[in-house]
Amino acid sequence: MKKTTTLSTRAIHGKKLHAYKGPLTLPIYQTSTYRFDSSDDAIRYANGDESVYVYSRYHNPSVEDVEEKIALMNEGEACALFASGMAAISSAVLTAAKAGDEIISTPALYGGTYRFFRDILPRYGITVRYIDPANLSALGAMITERTRIVYTETPTNPTLAIVDVKMLAAQTRRAEKRLGTKILAMVDNTFATCLYQHPFELGCDTILESATKYYGGHSDLLAGVVIGSASFLKEVRVTAKYLGGCADPFAAFLLSRSLKTFTMRVRQQSATALSLAKRLEGHPKVLRVIYPGLPSHPQHALAKRQMSGFGAMITIEVRGGAKGAVKVCDALCVAVNAMSLGGVESLVSIPVYSSHVNMSAQELKRHGVTPGMIRISVGAEGEDDLIADFEQALKKI
Ligand code: PLP
Repeated sequence: MKKTTTLSTRAIHGKKLHAYKGPLTLPIYQTSTYRFDSSDDAIRYANGDESVYVYSRYHNPSVEDVEEKIALMNEGEACALFASGMAAISSAVLTAAKAGDEIISTPALYGGTYRFFRDILPRYGITVRYIDPANLSALGAMITERTRIVYTETPTNPTLAIVDVKMLAAQTRRAEKRLGTKILAMVDNTFATCLYQHPFELGCDTILESATKYYGGHSDLLAGVVIGSASFLKEVRVTAKYLGGCADPFAAFLLSRSLKTFTMRVRQQSATALSLAKRLEGHPKVLRVIYPGLPSHPQHALAKRQMSGFGAMITIEVRGGAKGAVKVCDALCVAVNAMSLGGVESLVSIPVYSSHVNMSAQELKRHGVTPGMIRISVGAEGEDDLIADFEQALKKI
């Protein structure tokens, strides 16, 4: 097989380029279980032969098609597809950490991940300590023999702060040598995607991603991925078997279809995002525009170093606090007032009423979230329509 070099080709064909003689599009294996030719198959499975299909919570060809493509796209050894981003994150974390272990994380995380760390993990004896990403040079010293995971998300949801992944990975590797233990550096790459950020090249071990967002791209499915070494993914699959967050074959089919347009969509959405961000910057009703591609972003230089593009998420802070944000979101006609992100329809949400509910004022401060923030997921609509839509909605403040 000819080596596939571009991300688009890998996303469209997976490993089947020039080699696969069946239908162009893989049929949906919409089945919960598989017929055995004879009980010999069951016996082979019982003896550890993983090539025997037995049950779709363990493996399914439609799911495997996507896993193979996303592993290739990310240049990872292996990938496991889950029913949601949270199923992927929780399965990966619960594979790597057990009672008595600890995780060190940067604090600004997707609210669901943060609340999982805050409310669920301590019940199982796993503690999470936080490091300010501005102080990453102190990470190595913070890591102890109990640390199993160093966790980060970048750009962060919704504040679009950039964490220096190379520095985080280097500090983790140094501590690993000092302690003689394996510590996984995990990155939630949902906002940047493999189009613009390569955590493995930056030294990390595991990529987590909500495939609901840019991989899915049409706001019609939920999915999540864990990408990493074959040995870690083998362990993750064992955890996943029992936690049961397996991907549905139909969602996998939709996802496989979406991957074919992934690079086109994300490129166009990101180009529109840059234009919209530029237009909103300096608008009299907008106090702040946070977009890593703007020179005004406090970590623009780091973003340029670490990412090959800046993505399609913008966060703005409008005048009038939460009331001002509500007025704008309710007046938009092209952009839709809805949670989630990454799809071809532009979506807006107010973090204090969506991703960051159920957090104290102190936690919101630590995450950098303010009441007047609006998170904008830029879609694939016409740039002029979108800009005009924000201009008319901002007049409502
Ligand atoms: N990670 C990030 C950065 C997210 O924004 C989200 C959801 O918004 C998730 C993980 C969780 O993904 P899912 O909703 O697919 O479970």
